[in-house]
Amino acid sequence: MMNVSITSRSRVRAGIGWIRVLSAAFLCVLAASCAPSLKTVRVPSNAVADEARVQRELSLRTLADHWQRSARIHYTIVRNAGTLGGKKSRQDFGLTLHDLTFYPTPDRDIAAKLFGAGDRVTVRDVLPDSPAAAAGMRQGDTLVSINGTALGERHTAQAVELLKIPSEGPCTIEIQVLRAGRVRALRLTSTQVCDIPAFVVSSDAVNAYTDGSRVFVTTGMLNFAERDEDLALVVGHEIAHAALGHVTKRRVNSLLGSLVDAVVQVKTGFDTGGLGQRMGGIVFSRAFEAEADYLGAYLAARAGYDLHGAPQFWRKMSQDHPGSSRSNFFSTHPTSPERFVALERIVQEIRDKQERKLPLEPDRKSESASRE
Ligand SMILES: [Zn+2]
Repeated sequence: MMNVSITSRSRVRAGIGWIRVLSAAFLCVLAASCAPSLKTVRVPSNAVADEARVQRELSLRTLADHWQRSARIHYTIVRNAGTLGGKKSRQDFGLTLHDLTFYPTPDRDIAAKLFGAGDRVTVRDVLPDSPAAAAGMRQGDTLVSINGTALGERHTAQAVELLKIPSEGPCTIEIQVLRAGRVRALRLTSTQVCDIPAFVVSSDAVNAYTDGSRVFVTTGMLNFAERDEDLALVVGHEIAHAALGHVTKRRVNSLLGSLVDAVVQVKTGFDTGGLGQRMGGIVFSRAFEAEADYLGAYLAARAGYDLHGAPQFWRKMSQDHPGSSRSNFFSTHPTSPERFVALERIVQEIRDKQERKLPLEPDRKSESASRE
């Protein structure tokens, strides 16, 4: 028995040895088959650095385009909102400002090259039909003084503060700008706007939301809403939630999970402060959603946007983004046939009023009840 046992053990040992040899050989073959069999292109490090810069330039340019577009659409809405914009309003001049410190350090050389940003505060955008446009202000103008206060080394945030004139009605300010080596004095008379600023959030999620006093639109939404009319409807809807005080009546329900890493303050300048936090999407009741759809459409229409294709955009959103992700628009704005049909009727109601040259005022409950 002992001999048999010893023989069995030695056979087992021999077997294990062969398994090890075969395993090693197999691994060698496997390793050889995993290794590239074709030549690999040698990549010079300076070419990689050049390409990295090109990609950073493209990224910053795209983000700046988003800022500009959302600023233009948001401004047009808040300037024409009138009493529909809620209780908070302020005097505004319709320009955005920047300087190099506005941009992250690695992007400053690119911002200087692409947008002419420098050490001094310059005009980033002149918004359409604004006091700044009427006064002849131009993109790239360097601000010298605001109402006699020299800007000197001041940064954008300080210039923005100087432009916040507490006034109930229109007020006139004098801004000296440097353009083509010459100092020019421009007089700007403010207009009243609804005081609900908008911010761009860098996130692929197709979303827009409000915290009750500000509106946020993701770059994903800016890409998705290709037509300005559609983006105006989304921005109008969120401004409506804020103007109607819906947020104070509802609880913050979910966290969006998209880090705010670039924002634009769409009133008098850029502002990267105060938003380094994750914002939550808010789930409103069906009644509040219906009310925001209704007022939002009026806000967009008053800003001059043609809402003809608006219901189709809503339908496309529900098809492409059916709310499967917590961070997209339809997770907080569930679509339904009822909502689609309602929007079609809202658009028709607005068109009827436009054709009859009636003021674009939404009907109150009693008015709509008596009409039906
Ligand atoms: Zn909503």
